[in-house]
Amino acid sequence: MTQTEDKTSLSTEDTPLVPIEKVVALCKRRGYVYPNSEIYGGVSGIYDFGPLGVELRNNIRRFWWWSMVQLNDNVLGIEGSIITHPRVWEASGHVENFVDRLVDCKKCKRRHRVDHLPAENLEQNKCPNCGGELTEPRVFNLMMETYIGVVEGERMKTYLRGEACQNIYLDYDNVLKSSRIQIPFGICQIGKAFRNEVTPGNFLFRQREFEQWDLQFFVHPSEMQKWFDYWKVYRFEWYRSIINHKDRLRFRAHGPDELAHYAKQAYDIEYKSIIGWQEWEGIHWRQDWDLSRHSQYSGQDLSYTDQETKERYIPWIVETSGGVDRTFLNLLLDAYEEEPPSGKDKEGRTVLHLHPWLAPIKVAVLPLQKNKEELVTTAKGIHNRLKRLMVAQYDDVANIGRRYRRQDEIGTPFCVTVDFQTLEDQTVTVRERDGMTQIRRAIDELPGYLVEKVTWK
Ligand code: ATP
Repeated sequence: MTQTEDKTSLSTEDTPLVPIEKVVALCKRRGYVYPNSEIYGGVSGIYDFGPLGVELRNNIRRFWWWSMVQLNDNVLGIEGSIITHPRVWEASGHVENFVDRLVDCKKCKRRHRVDHLPAENLEQNKCPNCGGELTEPRVFNLMMETYIGVVEGERMKTYLRGEACQNIYLDYDNVLKSSRIQIPFGICQIGKAFRNEVTPGNFLFRQREFEQWDLQFFVHPSEMQKWFDYWKVYRFEWYRSIINHKDRLRFRAHGPDELAHYAKQAYDIEYKSIIGWQEWEGIHWRQDWDLSRHSQYSGQDLSYTDQETKERYIPWIVETSGGVDRTFLNLLLDAYEEEPPSGKDKEGRTVLHLHPWLAPIKVAVLPLQKNKEELVTTAKGIHNRLKRLMVAQYDDVANIGRRYRRQDEIGTPFCVTVDFQTLEDQTVTVRERDGMTQIRRAIDELPGYLVEKVTWK
């Protein structure tokens, strides 16, 4: 993949990790994320996205789609439904095995997932929070049940999908036959998934309704290792290209006790934040497990015939599976900075160093004063031109310093200020967020200049 390195990337090795509460507060204050059903007390692990949040989500999704589907000739996209035939979840093993084992602390009443307990607490049956004794593990299935049909007694129990990727296996044969594509090829999807997580928390990190992105790449068994290595690197570089703190990204190889029985290897791409090194995306060796199981449970032959050699086989699969919401959260944690007062900004500022490609608002157009009609008319004219090309905001409330800080806090990479010189020579000030540098540009050059800065390359 040839993605342009982030030119605005910061040297931030010594920057402290950002407390999640700071990002939660900013998200609420500025309209990125709200607790769902807040007026009724909220629902744990479920969130809504506000005006800025929806723009950021759309940009994140678009960037993933662009780099996975649009840039790769051998990858196609689908959008499957949330509800499927219930047999899907028997075949996938979710009905039987998609469980969390939980223990409760008898003293502080905290609940812990057994697979998240540190080894020493597990051995000594001790709560990591208070040292209290833990209960025997109890098992909970994470699938969310629902019903199809209206007549009592004839309704069919099924599930809201627990992972989005099952649609890809279900549609694999249709995509193959309708697209005239041949192995090796991949199918991508972005979609909602639902899990009755027993320990939701850390804001968007572990939710009950969230969005996943998956690539399932179908290969001949002899080429499995080659493609596994290829996508592993590709996905790592993708994440690297959108963060500032490059040293906070790493691979973690799954140990033998974590690997599924069919998996030769698996890696998590992990990001380090205030909650430690945590999975951001999984790179999985799925072999022929999924298509074999669906062949077996559906009775449909999902094998593939090579056009040249006539060899018939069940394709093996490389999976890359990550989350839109974890990307959203990690990007905000990565981008958030509280800068102390300096020569350039006497009061200090909170700034989101979001990649210009991903920032919800690309440019804010600001008349220096709102009581000077010519400044306002010119600024509105510029805003009207720019908003056809990118998400642009017009703002004339408060003094110019305040307005810059408001835009810094929501991550807007550029502010265009219309001042008195504009009225003389048709130039404006373009102020850049990270370095707070200011240059002058002719109004006519602005669209080209900004489009170049804020679009994928
Ligand atoms: P974990 O071990 O953290 O429960 P997992 O291994 O079950 O995660 P996968 O089923 O592999 O996760 O899901 C793929 C991706 O979906 C994860 O890497 C993560 O980005 C995202 N994801 C999984 N569960 C959640 C959740 N409850 N909330 C938000 N995102 C999630």
